[in-house]
Amino acid sequence: MLDIKIQKTASPKKIPAKGEKLGFGHIFTDHMFIMNYTEGKGWHDPRIVPFGDITLSPAAMVLHYGQEMFEGLKAYRGENGEVYLFRPDMNAKRANNSNDRLCIPRIPEEDFVQAVKAVVAVDSDWVPSEEGTSLYIRPFVISTDAHLGVAPSKTYMFIIILSPSGAYYESGLAPVGIWIEDEYVRAVRGGMGFAKTGGNYAASLAAQVKAHDGGYSQALWLDGVERKYIEEVGSMNIAFKISGKVVTPMLNGSILPGITRDSILHLCREWGYEVEERRISVDELIAAAHSGALEEVFGTGTAAVVSPVGKLRYKDDVIEIGGGKIGELTQKLYDELTGIQWGKRPDPYGWRVKVC
Ligand SMILES: *Cc1c(COP(=O)(O)O)cnc(C)c1O
Repeated sequence: MLDIKIQKTASPKKIPAKGEKLGFGHIFTDHMFIMNYTEGKGWHDPRIVPFGDITLSPAAMVLHYGQEMFEGLKAYRGENGEVYLFRPDMNAKRANNSNDRLCIPRIPEEDFVQAVKAVVAVDSDWVPSEEGTSLYIRPFVISTDAHLGVAPSKTYMFIIILSPSGAYYESGLAPVGIWIEDEYVRAVRGGMGFAKTGGNYAASLAAQVKAHDGGYSQALWLDGVERKYIEEVGSMNIAFKISGKVVTPMLNGSILPGITRDSILHLCREWGYEVEERRISVDELIAAAHSGALEEVFGTGTAAVVSPVGKLRYKDDVIEIGGGKIGELTQKLYDELTGIQWGKRPDPYGWRVKVC
C-alpha cells in the first residue's frame, strides 16, 4: 500500500458544464499523481498535488533518448453516479511489460491501480456524465537523470494526469477509412512494438500525415520485415469478420496487446464465434474483400472502443466494406462493451472496478 500524501489545490478550476464540448486530451483536472524513483531507494514520495508544470533539466534523458512509457485508460460515470474503471489491472501489467523492455523499474501492480484510483477519486467531480463521455487517464513514466550518456536513467517520475473527454463519435458510431501503409513501418519483432512508448508514436507520425493527406483517418501497419502481414492501426488493434469467423493478427511482439482487443475476443468466444489469432496477409484480405468473404472490419482501442472501418486503401486498390453501414457484430460488440463500461449492462466477467 502506498502512503499517498494529498495536497489539494487552493484555486480549483471551473469544471466543464454539462453540454460543453470536451474534445480529447486538452482539458486537465485540478490534480495529478506523482511518485519519484531513485536508484537504491526505489519508488518514493507518492503524492497527489495540484496539476501544473514540472521542472526538468534540459539534459533529462527522456528528452534525448525517449526512455519513457505510458498507459491509457478511462473512468466512466455510471447511471447511479458511481465512478468505475475498466480492467485497470491489465494496464498495470502492461505498464510493467513496457517498463521491462525500456529498462524502467517496475511499479508494483497494486500500487499502480491504487494511484489511479486515488487521483480519480480526488478529481471525481470531473468525470463527465453525458452519453459517451469519460475521464481519460494517462499514467506515464519519464527518465529524469541530467546526463547525455546513453544508459538507463537512475531516476524517474511516475505521473498520472486526467482529462475529461467527449464522446469519440459525436454523431454516433460511424465507419472510418483506413490507409494501408506500404512504405513506412512501425515496429519489428525484437523492437518495442509491444510496449506502449512514445518512440512508437514518433515513428508513426509520417504515415499518419500521409493517411490524412490522402483523406483517410488512420494508417494500418504491415509487418516491418516483409511488409505483407497486417499488424494494427495507429492507436487501435484491428479485427476482421471473414466468412463468419473473427480473425485478428496474433500478438507477435511487434503489435500492442490491447485490452479492448482482449475483451472483444473474449466476448466473441462467449458468443460462439470461431476466433482466429493468426498471421493474415494483406493479399488474403484483399482477396477476401473481392470475393465477398470479408464481412466486417473494425478497430479496437480504449479511445473509440470499437471503430467500424468502411473503407481500406492499399496501393491502387480501394475496398468498400459494408456499403457505408456498421456491421452487425461491430455494433453488438460496441453496445456490449460500452454497456459494461458505463454500468448499463451486467458485468459477468468482473471487468468493472469501482472507484467511488
Ligand atoms: C494503446 C494502443 C492500442 C489499444 O490498446 P487498448 O488497451 O485497447 O486501449 C493499440 N495499439 C497501439 C499502438 C496502442 O498504443
